[in-house]
Amino acid sequence: MAKSFACRDIGMSCNFRARANSDNELMAKIADHAKKAHGMQQIDDATMAKVKAAIKEA
Ligand SMILES: [Zn+2]
Repeated sequence: MAKSFACRDIGMSCNFRARANSDNELMAKIADHAKKAHGMQQIDDATMAKVKAAIKEA
């Protein structure tokens, strides 16, 4: 089952959306985007919790 995530869903003013077939693959895409677009070398626990809550079945 595919999963999707949109930055906008955690309150970022950003049009990034990611879609993947597993949580691990999706988290890898999100981590890569967070690093490149938001300058987050690591996603902190609070942000991670928001990200997880915002992941939807797609
Ligand atoms: Zn973003």
